[in-house]
Amino acid sequence: MRAIRRFTVRPVLPDALAPLSVLAGNLRWSWHPPTQDLFADIDPGLWEDVHRDPVRLLAAVSSERLGEVARDDAFMERLTRLHDDLQRYLGEDRWYARRAGDDAPRSIAYFSPEYGITSVLPQYSGGLGILAGDHLKSASDLGVPLVGVGLLYRHGYFKQALDRDGWQQESYPLLDPDELPLALLREADGSRATVSIALPDGPDLIARIWVAHVGRVPLLLLDSDVEENSSHYRDVTDRLYGGNSEHRLRQELLLGVGGVRALRAWSRITGAPAPEVFHTNEGHAGFLGIERIRELTVADDGPRLDFDTALEVSRAGTVFTTHTPVPAGIDRFPRELVEQYFGGVSPTPGVPVERVLALGAEDYEGGDAGVFNMAVMGFRLAQRANGVSQLHGEVSRGMFNGLWPAFDEAEVPIGSITNGVHGPTWIAREIFELAARRDWDVDADDTDALWPLVDQVGDREIWDLKRTLRSCLVDDARDRIARSAAERGFTRAETSWTQTAFDPDVLTIGFARRVPTYKRLTLMLRDPERLKRLLLHPERPIQLLIAGKAHPADETGKRLIQEMVAFADDPEVRHRIAFLPNYDIAMAQPLYPGCDVWLNNPLRPYEACGTSGMKAALNGGLNLSILDGWWDEWYDGDNGWAIPSADGIDDPERRDDLEATALYDLIENEVAPRFYERNHEGVPPRWLAMVRHTLKSLGPKVLATRQVRDYVRELYIPAAHTARGLDSDYKGAIELAGWKSRVRAGWPAVRVEHVESEGVSDQAEVGHALVVRAWVALGDLTTEDVAVQVVHGRTGWEDELRDSTVLPMQVGESYEGNRHRYDAEVTLDRAGSFGYTVRVVPRNEALASVAELGLVAEPPA
Ligand SMILES: *Cc1c(COP(=O)(O)O)cnc(C)c1O
Repeated sequence: MRAIRRFTVRPVLPDALAPLSVLAGNLRWSWHPPTQDLFADIDPGLWEDVHRDPVRLLAAVSSERLGEVARDDAFMERLTRLHDDLQRYLGEDRWYARRAGDDAPRSIAYFSPEYGITSVLPQYSGGLGILAGDHLKSASDLGVPLVGVGLLYRHGYFKQALDRDGWQQESYPLLDPDELPLALLREADGSRATVSIALPDGPDLIARIWVAHVGRVPLLLLDSDVEENSSHYRDVTDRLYGGNSEHRLRQELLLGVGGVRALRAWSRITGAPAPEVFHTNEGHAGFLGIERIRELTVADDGPRLDFDTALEVSRAGTVFTTHTPVPAGIDRFPRELVEQYFGGVSPTPGVPVERVLALGAEDYEGGDAGVFNMAVMGFRLAQRANGVSQLHGEVSRGMFNGLWPAFDEAEVPIGSITNGVHGPTWIAREIFELAARRDWDVDADDTDALWPLVDQVGDREIWDLKRTLRSCLVDDARDRIARSAAERGFTRAETSWTQTAFDPDVLTIGFARRVPTYKRLTLMLRDPERLKRLLLHPERPIQLLIAGKAHPADETGKRLIQEMVAFADDPEVRHRIAFLPNYDIAMAQPLYPGCDVWLNNPLRPYEACGTSGMKAALNGGLNLSILDGWWDEWYDGDNGWAIPSADGIDDPERRDDLEATALYDLIENEVAPRFYERNHEGVPPRWLAMVRHTLKSLGPKVLATRQVRDYVRELYIPAAHTARGLDSDYKGAIELAGWKSRVRAGWPAVRVEHVESEGVSDQAEVGHALVVRAWVALGDLTTEDVAVQVVHGRTGWEDELRDSTVLPMQVGESYEGNRHRYDAEVTLDRAGSFGYTVRVVPRNEALASVAELGLVAEPPA
């Protein structure tokens, strides 16, 4: 029989234990081991059975046992202490209040399609989600007033298993929100708060709003699985990255448009300040900008601005982070589909469909007129944009140069902030405990204090700690290998070997990540015999743990996994190499600390940043990686190894051969010998020197607290500042929109008529000064509207300027007909080729970059 209706009965705790629900109701427990221990001690067996999930533990534990702990003085004292500690954490002034300054935004909204916070809230597929989770956690630790916005997927992402042939199997367990660490947002009268959006094919789509508390940061998750919706609407939030384009479009409309509405409901109900900055983590949430334009242009209670003015207000306060340099990874919809959704009954009624379409149009050279590009819309709706490592910023400037064709790549207004990871989540608790034993005052919420202390720990102790961590990983891996073998249908007799697989004293290399082609899961299998020799080396063996999910629609990825599994199934090597199914946070947490080396071999430059290697580094793991993403930036020659990449070689087979050979050579000649070289105490001194150096050099950089501080200083505060200048009474925005339209109209008449220089002959020497004069006609514009600049630098083969410097010119003399002479003096400060040019660009304090309007006037060729 099947139930016709289901619901979950929430447990009632004895009054004295009420603080337990408070602790379970805030996800801070997920990065606070003492709180986890408290839950574990209620019933250690049950704690493991419920996969270390406090909410499910409290639902499942017997009332007798609850009665017992309520009478246990020591337990109650711990409970009170931990409850007080949480209240202190939630209430006290932290970095943001002390250091961010008075003009920092009162509230920042952060939108992401996925969040990886803990394995008990499986709402993520990989790096993007984990990054979003780490961003929220670190914002909480720093006291940054962030509010997260996302969707609650009824099935989350899929669970991965293997069949007997090593083919990926996907399953989608049903998640019951009542069993998750979530609370429903309710109106003052107790009724459920909802948002709705209009869709073309039926009644409004309705969503309820779940709230997860991530420390101090509320996370609002929209859920369309409500009775009022018809079944195909209830399925809008069925799974992460599932379904066709239309399904994805609906999800993104709910996330962007519904997300802004959910924020308004949140502010109305809780009194929280309205966000001053909107940060969109990747393009998927981009429709939030359209909804904000609707609020500003047509909403009854809004200021009823015109579209262009509203666009200025909205983009001033918006930050867009792009996450992938892989063109296929960019989110695009058929243009007609977007037209169909915004053209009739629109989710943002009153906003003209042509304006929406124009925002996502690839109307540049090489663009596709038939698509609507969410990244392109992201750039147009956000005044500030960034990539996620220096290299990725550079690659993105090239990739999106088409949006600013008048400017060289270097001036494309996309900056970069390198990703980081949340220390308390990803650093093994044994490391914190080592610090605690020494009474070091290391606050688990702010790990900065840890790194300078590394040198106070002896080699022996570090080495023993690494062995402990390796040994925990080996235990975990054995369990996983055995379970997977059983799932694949092998009998017990066939799987007894799993209990002795892997060795806590062998050099352990980890490789875990999603399986798109560019990450090259199987590069290490390029020469299978050579890999076998490395695994089975009589004195210096290695062992490899491998994991990763392929997207359900990615047959190529699944084939790569199958190839890997086939290699690892070989009885000769299966005790030294394994593919562990279902890579997730629960697997990742013991994996990074237990590995000695973290391997990454993407096709450069497709790894935007990568964060798993950072997590390894924080636990004393050494990176062995292609110089891509973050590693390109922070590899220093002593904190790991760079696999040379054969960038210039177009034949992918040859490139893979070269890079695989380089990888084997490094392992054989550098990595393994160093690991196995032991001194009289039995420790590897040269290895440990690299471990120390890794911790000290990378520890402070790779933390997400550094990342979030960078976002606050470089993007959130400037965005709030510009937005306030525009939206207090909208005068600034009206002026700016009017100014832009006047400057665009007048630009064709702006000309650099003539340029002269003097002071330097063909015997120029360092230290000489060059006087540059330019005669400029401004048509209907004024000298206030423009900046005239000398751009100078080295010259390349085709006289293109490199490493150029921009120097402002001053009006020297004005003539009839709005013509002016501009002057500047350039000091030649470096030897070598030198070239310069003069240009006119729009100038306004409210612009974040010279390239913003895409306008420039240069001397005639
Ligand atoms: C860190 C992490 C990722 C992202 O790792 P990359 O190096 O960016 O590929 C993916 N999945 C899980 C479970 C992680 O913990």
